[in-house]
Amino acid sequence: MRTEARVVVIGGGVVGCSVLYHLTKLGWRDVVLLERDELTSGSTWHAAGGMHTINSDPNVAKLQDYTIRLYKEIEAISGQSCGIHLTGGIMLAGTPERLDFLKTTHARGRLLGLESEFIALDEVKRRHPLIETRHFLGALFDPNEGHIDPSGVTQAYAKAARQAGAEVNRFTPVTELHPQAGGGWLVVTPGGSIAAEIVVNAAGLWAREVGRLVGLELPVLAMEHHYLVTDDLPEVALRDEELPHAIDFEAEIYTRQEGKGLLVGTYEKACVPWSPRTTPADFGHELLPPDLDRIAPSLELAFAHFPAVERAGIKRVINGPFTFAPDGNPLVGPVPGLRNFYLACGVMAGFSQGGGVGLTLANWIVEGDPGMDVFAMDIARFGDFATRAYTNAKVRENYSRRFSITFPNEELPAARPQTTTAVYDRLKAKGAVFGASFGLEHALWFAPAETAAHEVPTFRRSNAHGPVGEECRAVRAGVGILEIANYGKYEVTGSRAEAWLDWLLAGRLPPQGRVGLAPMLRHQGKLMGDLTVARLGAERFMIVGSGVAERFHRRWFEDHLPDRGVAVRPIASERVGFALAGPRSRELLARLTDEDLSGAAFRFFDIRQIDVVTVPALVARVSFTGELGFEIYVDAAYQLALYEALVEAGQDLGLAHFGGRALNSLRLEKSFGAWLREYTPDYTPFQAGLGRFIDFDKGDFVGRDAALRLREEAPSHRLVTLVVDAADADAYGDEPVLADGRLVGFTTSGGYGHMVERSIALAYLEPAFATAEAGLAVTILGDDRPARLAPAPLYDPTGARMRS
Ligand SMILES: Cc1cc2nc3c(=O)[nH]c(=O)nc-3n(C[C@H](O)[C@H](O)[C@H](O)COP(=O)(O)OP(=O)(O)OC[C@H]3O[C@@H](n4cnc5c(N)ncnc54)[C@H](O)[C@@H]3O)c2cc1C
Repeated sequence: MRTEARVVVIGGGVVGCSVLYHLTKLGWRDVVLLERDELTSGSTWHAAGGMHTINSDPNVAKLQDYTIRLYKEIEAISGQSCGIHLTGGIMLAGTPERLDFLKTTHARGRLLGLESEFIALDEVKRRHPLIETRHFLGALFDPNEGHIDPSGVTQAYAKAARQAGAEVNRFTPVTELHPQAGGGWLVVTPGGSIAAEIVVNAAGLWAREVGRLVGLELPVLAMEHHYLVTDDLPEVALRDEELPHAIDFEAEIYTRQEGKGLLVGTYEKACVPWSPRTTPADFGHELLPPDLDRIAPSLELAFAHFPAVERAGIKRVINGPFTFAPDGNPLVGPVPGLRNFYLACGVMAGFSQGGGVGLTLANWIVEGDPGMDVFAMDIARFGDFATRAYTNAKVRENYSRRFSITFPNEELPAARPQTTTAVYDRLKAKGAVFGASFGLEHALWFAPAETAAHEVPTFRRSNAHGPVGEECRAVRAGVGILEIANYGKYEVTGSRAEAWLDWLLAGRLPPQGRVGLAPMLRHQGKLMGDLTVARLGAERFMIVGSGVAERFHRRWFEDHLPDRGVAVRPIASERVGFALAGPRSRELLARLTDEDLSGAAFRFFDIRQIDVVTVPALVARVSFTGELGFEIYVDAAYQLALYEALVEAGQDLGLAHFGGRALNSLRLEKSFGAWLREYTPDYTPFQAGLGRFIDFDKGDFVGRDAALRLREEAPSHRLVTLVVDAADADAYGDEPVLADGRLVGFTTSGGYGHMVERSIALAYLEPAFATAEAGLAVTILGDDRPARLAPAPLYDPTGARMRS
């Protein structure tokens, strides 16, 4: 065994072997994999080997497509068969909602270049005669689905990596990990130690245990999972062609041909976690006792929908554990706060996702960047709120809903409320319907008195549509109050704070007492953040950004900190507050302070420490609504006093509570983009319309050279605003945009503009169509809805109201 390596990958399941292979593919040969037993000794060996492209996140879906296409490559390189059966797969819809879901899936697939197609039920019967089609309304067929041999795939990755110079050591458990002064790790095994620059935790079922070696408690939990294999069926044996895969969402089963019988697996509602605290060290090539009673409800439906299964005997029942993160997507990337320690774990669909995870992580390690927006699987999407009990509740929710529809307006209830602010009960009493973001409860909208504070999950406009409209109109006509606890906030201090921020952010830093918009770039010149920065003192700044990206941005700040002279402190939970927005917001705030708030004295983008009643507050004259407005930040302990004062003083002004849904509608009317929707690491600032905030004259900054090059390139897409002729469903994001039937772009968000009374979508279009006069359409729930460009924001295009 080598004693030194650039990278040590811990775990020889499908994921660890894929990471190893991809590192060698990028040219790193001094890489070692350590496996405590034989390769495949965790979840990998007993997997059903199914693979598909479906995922709610488009980039994860893209990586799943990559994974499936990779098998031929590793088979050719290694000479090891992967047992590829590319049978295609049928997704069956038994309800109108499921049909809507499949239409959305199909439309998103089109954006990614996937080749799914709707097929008629008689075609379903022709391709898969064992399906009782009278239970279904429609079906989507995806040719890029099938199954592989789990062991063959893992061995093929390992062989291909070895051929390129990697070392694979079996029967070599990692027992200790020690950080070294230079930033590397000493990796200890019973057979000796390796000094590694970088460690990757790909320990699958034991990811938690490997995490604990370095003091981490990872949000991962294993669940028991059953599938059964039937005896041979004459209907199958007599066929020349292999049956396609099928997913029957209503029965919550997936099925495929295995030999001359069927393999049927289920994600049952009454699911059971396995080893919730600790994975036994001696667990290996064994299975768990089956519990057919638990999966009986699904099997009964399976018998009705696939009658041949009921007639067949059961040859084998498999019950094995595999791991999930709280939202079901993998945990990948550098762990915030730890140097040179990466994750590739929590991969619940290793045969659909393993290749994409390996590619992403190898890029991250070798290039310092994952290569695209992979927030949906980035470990940084979880914070301290993701405790073991939270993970347990969320994973069970996720598993039991594996084949349920999660509607775009749906907020799932498990492990909530987790984090709340002091005004949670007050807002609840006002009828707030809450969502959770980064663990924190925040008001989405307010149900009027006498109506239920509940939003019905739907693809169409929901029961919130009317009340949200009232909130929007109240803000535009008078004044509204919005809690703004759910933003990411950081205090940056120190003698070198100014110089450091000037280098880290691409915009010009504001002078003292002012707020500035500050795009932050990746080294490749694309977006890393759309932040606001406020200069509060000679050596003191506050940065505000997206709440869900709190860890994501913090990791970036910490990775770029100099040795001394700058301190970054996350203050999201200690500094909370409210936004006041609307033409009467100044009048309201003026009642509570002796400060001069006139337009001349307190200008647009000014920020100042003032007293609001008795409360010391940091007040900025900004608003994401496009109205005159103020953001008032206070220490959490003052929040209740501030709230009560604002509400009391606002009574006769008709102060309205508004929530995140109204804010979304108001910002769409202003064509304001949002992080993770219009602004993500996939886009350049020039595509996103943020180029004007970049100051190329100020000297060097992160991403400058790359951004200069990008500025000269013709962009593939440009961000535009569309007005959509929608029916009862608005765009949401990731819908195709067509020009005379041809795909020319995609939406990033959408919704109804209640003040302008139009359905709005923000979208990236090919430049030739970003000025199209006519012929555009947005595909919403399978319908191509006519759309036209809005050359300027639909509401207050000159911005006069927010400057008033
Ligand atoms: C019944 C069942 C059916 C499934 N069906 C499918 C399917 O159809 N399609 C699909 O995509 N997925 C399926 N899966 C899930 C799939 O098996 C997993 O997603 C995948 O195997 C995860 O691989 P991994 O490499 O992350 O983890 P693992 O396979 O658990 O591998 C981790 C490896 O790390 C090693 N290790 C742990 N600790 C150490 C240490 N300290 N030192 C050295 N080595 C260590 C272990 O021995 C193990 O070999 C199924 C799973 C089950 C249980």
